[in-house]
Amino acid sequence: MEVTLSQVLCFSCGVPQEIGQEVCSACGVVMDVSASTRSKSKTTTQTLCFTMGFLGAHRFYLGQWKIALLYIVFIPTGASVLAWFIESIRLYRMSPATFQSKLAQGKI
Ligand SMILES: [Zn+2]
Repeated sequence: MEVTLSQVLCFSCGVPQEIGQEVCSACGVVMDVSASTRSKSKTTTQTLCFTMGFLGAHRFYLGQWKIALLYIVFIPTGASVLAWFIESIRLYRMSPATFQSKLAQGKI
């Protein structure tokens, strides 16, 4: 397998990829997180979720306005608090790599 100067090896599967490519074309892992305009810090997301998660603060941060507004709409029903609880645990258990990967795929 020949690697040119404009390529880097995928850290996950080892297949050469173009520099600056966000996602590996072979295995789909997120290669260059900084290249992604959607890149967000897991620490910030987690902190926002823990402190103001019932208001959907972490969803606003991630740019997911519709979900964030649902949090606010459902505050009186208590559903927001339940979602807050679930999301806090989910974020806490998620590794930073998994977080970035899911975020890049829009599956967070
Ligand atoms: Zn790969």
